Amino acid sequence: MKIAVVSDIHANLIALQRVFVEIQKKAADAIWCLGDTVGYGPYPQECVDIIRSQAQICLAGNHDLAVLGKIDLAAFNPIAREAILWQRKHLTDESLAWLQNLPSRVETAVATLAHASPRHPIWEYIDNEEVAAENYDAFNTPIGLIGHSHLAMGWQMQRKTTQIETEHIAETPGTPITLNLVYKWLLNPGSVGQPRDHDPRASFAMLDTEAWTWTWHRVEYDIERVEQDIMAAGLPEVLGRRLHLGW
Ligand code: ZN
Repeated sequence: MKIAVVSDIHANLIALQRVFVEIQKKAADAIWCLGDTVGYGPYPQECVDIIRSQAQICLAGNHDLAVLGKIDLAAFNPIAREAILWQRKHLTDESLAWLQNLPSRVETAVATLAHASPRHPIWEYIDNEEVAAENYDAFNTPIGLIGHSHLAMGWQMQRKTTQIETEHIAETPGTPITLNLVYKWLLNPGSVGQPRDHDPRASFAMLDTEAWTWTWHRVEYDIERVEQDIMAAGLPEVLGRRLHLGW
């Protein structure tokens, strides 16, 4: 089975459309979304419509929950907060009801999906080996899929007596990584709508559960247009500027 894994779309329709063109070319059997479909960007309704109709699994991220009022807005910086309040006003009741019913963690036969981390699905950033190792016992499948950090990267982990040996896996767009199931894997597809690894291209990944491979992909999209629409929506300007920097 070929599964397209997307995360952190953040209401960036233009990036999402480009990613979906690539996913179609790769003949994905399923689409899994790791959450934060909304937040930050100018097209929350359109992004919910696409994910709702196309993804077989979709998680709730911290921004999705904040839009619903399930997380205190004080937990967000002022710019993120302003964007969350804007999103609330630009989603239909039907879309809010859909978001309301999303889980933040799902376990399938092959993978555990969590927006942030397997042990803390809403808030924990897995961006270093220590935190990755601390999550080793928090999932029972060979693969853990995570988003939240907006960083396309992963970890290969193995228990060695009392210690968890952890190896960082750097992103190699377009080149499959073989998933040796002797190890446990924590894999982040990166962010569709607001990458933060200094590469402004939209990021997603393909998981092949027959060949047991994982492949990151990056695609260019019209950032200029998104920036203009952010300004036109009256959202904070910096949300457009940061897209050019991939940060
Ligand atoms: Zn996010």
